[in-house]
Amino acid sequence: MASSRVTANRKVGVFGGTFDPIHNGHVAVAESVREALDLDQVLFVVTSDQWLRENPPVAAAADRFNMVELAVDNVLEFTASDVDIVREGSTYTVDTLRDLRAQLGDEVELYLIVGADSAASMNRWKDAEQIGKLANIVAVGRPGQAFAIQSLDKSHPASGAEYVEGPMIDVSATLVRKFLSTAQSVDTLVHENVAKYIENRNLYR
Ligand code: ATP
Repeated sequence: MASSRVTANRKVGVFGGTFDPIHNGHVAVAESVREALDLDQVLFVVTSDQWLRENPPVAAAADRFNMVELAVDNVLEFTASDVDIVREGSTYTVDTLRDLRAQLGDEVELYLIVGADSAASMNRWKDAEQIGKLANIVAVGRPGQAFAIQSLDKSHPASGAEYVEGPMIDVSATLVRKFLSTAQSVDTLVHENVAKYIENRNLYR
């Protein structure tokens, strides 16, 4: 007998990054997408240390993960995910989404959240054409990053993305690290427990 009960799928945001360290821009972006799309949960997925990019992360994956946990601890819907850290090898978004799908089951609807700078480069990502099949893509505005979905070629993975302008906070992890290396306060840029963690562990000096 067919059930007449309708169960709404759980909507889960997937926000990947090096988070080196996590800053207020990251948290504000996640909050604004959560609100705009009525997401039930946002996973902050921390990249492993073996991520192949020009500039490898400065802090170890364990420290970056701990800082994400500290920054999202007070938000019920936000969770740090180590899915990319426990998988051996480099981090590719397509693998992240496949692993999360296996972890969370078929009932869940995934929303991949990417900043405008990342969205623009998605055509160079591994198996980019698969990504849009595994998750809805959400591009978020970032100050200084001109980004117009309409101007993307139809073959670009982000051409079907949903655009959320978001809080437009002009902060980057690069700026946070620069402040720390020149002994300037980062109290307005990161969560206070993240600032304490950085100080205690003597990171980014
Ligand atoms: P870095 O300066 O080290 O390159 P970052 O600040 O860009 O770091 P990442 O961890 O690389 O931080 O970013 C994770 C995701 O968050 C990416 O999709 C990025 O585009 C997005 N993002 C980071 N900061 C902002 C911001 N201020 N506004 C919008 N999106 C952001």
